[in-house]
Amino acid sequence: MAGVLYIVATPIGNLDDLSLRAVEVLKKVDLVAAEDTRHSRRLLQHLGLQKTMLALHDHNERDRTEGVLDLLRKGSSIALISDAGTPLISDPGFVLVREARQHGLVVTPIPGACALVAALSAAGLPTDRFRFEGFLPTKRGARQAALAALAEEVATLVFYESPHRILETAEEIAQAFGPDREVVFAREMTKAFETFYAGPAAVVAASLKADPYAVKGEFVVMVHGADKRDDDGGGFEVDKLLRLLIAELPVKKAARIGAELTGVSKNDLYQRALEIKGA
Ligand code: SAM
Repeated sequence: MAGVLYIVATPIGNLDDLSLRAVEVLKKVDLVAAEDTRHSRRLLQHLGLQKTMLALHDHNERDRTEGVLDLLRKGSSIALISDAGTPLISDPGFVLVREARQHGLVVTPIPGACALVAALSAAGLPTDRFRFEGFLPTKRGARQAALAALAEEVATLVFYESPHRILETAEEIAQAFGPDREVVFAREMTKAFETFYAGPAAVVAASLKADPYAVKGEFVVMVHGADKRDDDGGGFEVDKLLRLLIAELPVKKAARIGAELTGVSKNDLYQRALEIKGA
């Protein structure tokens, strides 16, 4: 019988954020495939485990995949882990998982920490719709173009960013989205110096600049989506109309009248009215 490929989430800082099931799986598998074996051996040592390991990272994933599939076919069970959080989320593993599925092998997730979900869960920004963009391009021109292309996106935007670009990115966000766009920068989550910087983009950019520790941590960057425009509101500027209505009426009534006037769903308008009120 073929073995199972387990995709195991590991902590993003605090080592206690590892599920009991993840520990059980790491204990029982024949092999642990890790992005950086030296880094992950420390986690295994912390759990008192000595495992056979295989390095699987961006540079060798294509070459290694066939060998891993072979081991699975021969009955070995394998856990894929990355340096932190959930494998494949801005981390290696896509080629392996895709090939394993295409070859009819069993792939099963062992869920746990993921920086983008942790950040969204505590940021206080709308989470009904979000758009995860991973890392922005490293070259300044490409990064600014990528941000400009997202300026009208109505979903909450989520980015990963490395500490040495965080100040530039914060300033570029204030430029691309406007100084007043609400942003939340989640730094070093689950670690000793966990900090959430929240507020208008320009204010957050200035606070980061003033904080000598800002450039020392890992960040998830979140940007409130753009106000909905009038394209889906039957000629009305939906947000403007909602603002006028909620200034005079209870939210539920405002949403109902707004829906009649614009043709936008009552539920969507209710949610949006709550967001506007909250802001
Ligand atoms: N696979 C991981 C996950 O599930 O979140 C993400 C890996 S990606 C290579 C690393 C990036 O995730 C960091 O540059 C940072 O943007 C974000 N990140 C990871 N841990 C974090 C933490 N504790 N606090 C804030 N951001 C974190």
